[in-house]
Amino acid sequence: MTHSPRRAEEILQALRLKRPEDINLEAIAWLQGAKVDYREMDGCEACIHGRADVGRAIIAVNDAHGNLRRQRFSLAHELGHWEWHRGEHLFCAKEDIGGSKGRERGMSREKGANRFASELLMPEFMLKSALNDFRKFDMRTVRLLSDAFSVSKTAMAYRLVDLDFEPSLLASYSRGGLNWFKRSKSVGERWFLRRTLDPQSNAHDILHKGARDDISLSLMDADTWFDTEGADRYELAEQSFRVGDDEVMTLLVLKSEYMMAR
Ligand SMILES: [Zn+2]
Repeated sequence: MTHSPRRAEEILQALRLKRPEDINLEAIAWLQGAKVDYREMDGCEACIHGRADVGRAIIAVNDAHGNLRRQRFSLAHELGHWEWHRGEHLFCAKEDIGGSKGRERGMSREKGANRFASELLMPEFMLKSALNDFRKFDMRTVRLLSDAFSVSKTAMAYRLVDLDFEPSLLASYSRGGLNWFKRSKSVGERWFLRRTLDPQSNAHDILHKGARDDISLSLMDADTWFDTEGADRYELAEQSFRVGDDEVMTLLVLKSEYMMAR
């Protein structure tokens, strides 16, 4: 049985799905010959056993943590493996699937499955029309969209930064420093994030002093975040929120055209 891998949006468009609530992953899996089983698993977040010759697969998703949005991302990730790495038996750890520290790490196969999951759960054509309802890119917009698309705030913020709806960055820090970041294409590559949080940043207070999550963007000098020469001449907006005992996530929205890629 020959199989030509498709991008997530091709699958959604072939099914004529138009709204986020129409993205029924079990139904999509079934149509691709994959049966989904939710169960408690130890040491792995999801796995797939597939047979390319008969076009059938069994996907197991860990439901021990009870986080439905995480299970949804895990299933979308495994569907990405089924589409692009058909026939392989894969065990995917928490670090492989979306998750904070795994985002930029791991083999390209895992990155590919994460990209597929992002595109399946948050397709650009649906996001574009949903964004018409919002005037600015901040964490309120991210939260409302993450509810509409049933994904985590981090997954939604990452996707919006990646799609470059506004010049922005998403960064994850823990007490040890910067874990990972995503920069939208329109932001100049010469802007390097500081390796550790500046005490002037809101993220620093959230992580180290137990301060509350920011409820809105706050304006500050760009050198609070970047150690690139000349950063003190520009301003940006920060909004940070805690995602775990030892992790804070920050959305930075850039204001100055001098900070854009040329
Ligand atoms: Zn995987």
